[in-house]
Amino acid sequence: MTAELICVGTELLLGNILNTNAAFISEKCAMLGLSMYYQSVVGDNQGRLEELLNTARHRSDVIILCGGLGPTQDDLTKETAAKVMGKPLTEDAQAHKDIEEFMARRGRSITENNWKQAMVPEGCKVLYNPNGTAPGIIMEEGGTCVILLPGPPNELVPMFEEQVCPYLQDRQPDIICSKMVKLCGIGESSAETKIIDLIEQQTNPTVAPYAKTGEVHLRITAKAESEEEAYRMIVPVEEELQKRFGSLIYTDDPQVTLEMAVHELLKKHNLTVTTAESCTGGLVAGRLINVPGISAYLREGYITYSNEAKEKLLGVLPETLRLHGAVSPQTAEEMAAGGAKAAGADLCIAVTGIAGPDGGTEEKPVGLVYMSCYCRGKLYTEKNQYTGSRSKIREYSVASALTLLRKAILSTFGEVDVCG
Ligand code: ATP
Repeated sequence: MTAELICVGTELLLGNILNTNAAFISEKCAMLGLSMYYQSVVGDNQGRLEELLNTARHRSDVIILCGGLGPTQDDLTKETAAKVMGKPLTEDAQAHKDIEEFMARRGRSITENNWKQAMVPEGCKVLYNPNGTAPGIIMEEGGTCVILLPGPPNELVPMFEEQVCPYLQDRQPDIICSKMVKLCGIGESSAETKIIDLIEQQTNPTVAPYAKTGEVHLRITAKAESEEEAYRMIVPVEEELQKRFGSLIYTDDPQVTLEMAVHELLKKHNLTVTTAESCTGGLVAGRLINVPGISAYLREGYITYSNEAKEKLLGVLPETLRLHGAVSPQTAEEMAAGGAKAAGADLCIAVTGIAGPDGGTEEKPVGLVYMSCYCRGKLYTEKNQYTGSRSKIREYSVASALTLLRKAILSTFGEVDVCG
C-alpha cells in the first residue's frame, strides 16, 4: 500500500511551528510497511488543498491529512476532503456528546462554531478524541482511504497509535517488525562501509544506518506474514552485524542508552567512577546521573574549568600546564589519574578541550578535545577533533567520553574484541 501525507496549516508554511507530526507519522507508516512516496504542506486554503487532494487520490492508496480540524472558519480540512470524496457532512451524535463533556470538564463554555467539529462525512469511521474536541475521521471511497487527524500532537499521537495503527495494520497483509542495534565509537560512514554489501543487496530484511550524536544506530526491518516469522528473519542479520561490529555494539534494546550501558558495566564489575571535566562542564556527570541507581557507583564529580581548579582539585602539576597547556594529552591524563585519587574511585573520565567559538590557534584549533580515562592504574587517552558550534562540540565530547569510559572498562576486563 502506498501512503501520502498532507499537513495543513499556514503556520507550518511560515516556519512558526516545527512539523513534528510529519516525522511521527512518517516513522509510524514505515513501521507499518506502507510506502510513503509524497508529503506536502499546504496553507489553510480550500482551493490549494482541493487541488492537492485530487492529485493525491489518483496516486496513493492512503492519504493522511493532519491539522485544520478546528472550530474556526479557516479550519477547512474536513469540509474540503468530504467535498473531494463526494461525501455530505452529517452530525455525529457521539462526537456532539464528547464535545459537550470535554468543554464541561474544562469549565469552558461552548460557542456555536464548536458544533462544526461534530459534523462528519457520511459513512465514515469516526476516531473519537478524548484529548480535544476535534474527532479524527477515516473515509473510504473507490479503493482510496483518507484519514483526517487533528493538528495538536498531544491529540494526534494517541489517536494514531490507538486507532489508526490497528486500522492500517488490518488492511496490510504483512507485518513489519524491526530491531535497533546501537553502536558507539564508530562514525556513520565507517559503519556504512563495513556493511555496504548488506545495504546494497538487501530486500527483506533491510538494514539502515541512522547517525546520532556520537553514535550510529542500525535498524533491521523485516516484512513477513507473522511477527514470529519477521523476528526469525531478523536473527541472522543481527548475528552478521555482531560479527562485523563486535563490542562496538552496546545494545540491541531500544530503551537502553549509552549511559545505561556504562552503568551496567560499572555494576557488573562493581566499579566506582568519577568525572573531571573542563569544556564539558558537568555534562558527562549529568548523562551518567540520567540513570537511576548510578549513585552506588558515582559519588562525586569535578568541574575544573580553570588551571587553578585543575591543580587544586585534581593535582595537575603546574609544569604540565605550563609546558603542554590545559588542552593536551598530558593534562587530560593527570586530570584522570588525579580525579580518581581525589575521589578514591576505580575510574575517572577526564575531558579537556576548546569548545570555541574563540580560543583556538593554528596548533590547537577550536574543536580539539583530549580525553583520558583512568581505570584501576591504567590510562586510556584519546584525541578528538570536532567541528560545529560550541554546543555541538560539547555534545560530541560527552558521547565520546562515555564511549571511552565503556572502552576502558571493556579493555581492562578483557572484554574488548578485535572490532572494539
Ligand atoms: P484544533 O482542534 O486545536 O483547532 P486543528 O486540527 O485545527 O486543531 P491546527 O489548527 O492546524 O489543528 O493546529 C493546531 C496546533 O497544533 C498548532 O498551533 C500547532 O501547535 C499544532 N500543530 C499543527 N500541525 C502540526 C504539525 N504538523 N506538527 C506539529 N504540530 C502541529
